[in-house]
Amino acid sequence: MKYADLHVHTIESDGTSSPAQLVKGALERGLSAIAITDHDTVGAIAEVLKEAQETTLEIIPGIELTSQQDNQEIHILGYFLDYTQQGLLDKLQLVQQNRVQRVYKIVENLKGLGIELNAQTVFDISGRGTVGRMHIARALLLDGWVGSTSEAFRKYIGDDSPAYVCGFHLSVLEAIKLISEAGGVAVLAHPYVLDNDELITEFVSYGLQGLEVYYPEHSQSQVNFYLDLAKNLGLLVTGGSDFHGSVKPNIKLGTIKIPFELVEKLRLAKRL
Ligand code: AMP
Ligand code: ZN
Ligand code: FE
Ligand code: FE
Repeated sequence: MKYADLHVHTIESDGTSSPAQLVKGALERGLSAIAITDHDTVGAIAEVLKEAQETTLEIIPGIELTSQQDNQEIHILGYFLDYTQQGLLDKLQLVQQNRVQRVYKIVENLKGLGIELNAQTVFDISGRGTVGRMHIARALLLDGWVGSTSEAFRKYIGDDSPAYVCGFHLSVLEAIKLISEAGGVAVLAHPYVLDNDELITEFVSYGLQGLEVYYPEHSQSQVNFYLDLAKNLGLLVTGGSDFHGSVKPNIKLGTIKIPFELVEKLRLAKRL
């Protein structure tokens, strides 16, 4: 049997693994394919492809776009997209600028809570590419405000925590369209975070083609629920570990791995 992990982050966003480390790790864990799905960037894909060139590992170009609806953060995965398309790259640059502004806003909120964090510390940790909450969590840990990154999310910057800022550049409709226009297949990431499953029907009317049914945080009953929903709505089924490297130590590459036939269905959907 061949397996794939379709949700993997690199150092280009908020993971801690380099392209070379990811290719080596995926091969060691017996995977046949991984999809690179960094937050709001395709900056690592060319290098991962290059690293995998002489190996048996297939690299699926992807992205995890951050969008919002009703002040809720919604992540849309895109697969098999043309990661060199200029329209996509231009839009991502705007998203990146928006993310930098968001860091300043979150730092301001933290200040209101008595936490003096320097935004530059966050930017130094993130380096090039996408900056986000994981880098803020690591900065809070570095400066001793929290004992772990998960404490940072729980107390300060988690979706329902006091310093959280949504304010993303893209609506869900725009995110799905951006992926479709780049020739990709749009899939709703980790649907369990949605407050309201009826939104999924709405997203389908925007062009959503799949659901990330297999995900580490999904219970067996949630998996069954989303499998049913995917069937009823005519959606593709995907899955992945949301691998981030050492910042999410319990999640390994391939913690969630899906049968390769689901990858083939995804590939076919792109060709339609
Ligand atoms: P952002 O794109 O800046 O909103 O950050 C989203 C990322 O933050 C996710 O991909 C995770 O890496 C991380 N994250 C969000 N919520 C949590 C949480 N409760 N615990 C740990 N990491 C989280
Ligand atoms: Zn992340
Ligand atoms: Fe996500
Ligand atoms: Fe992710």
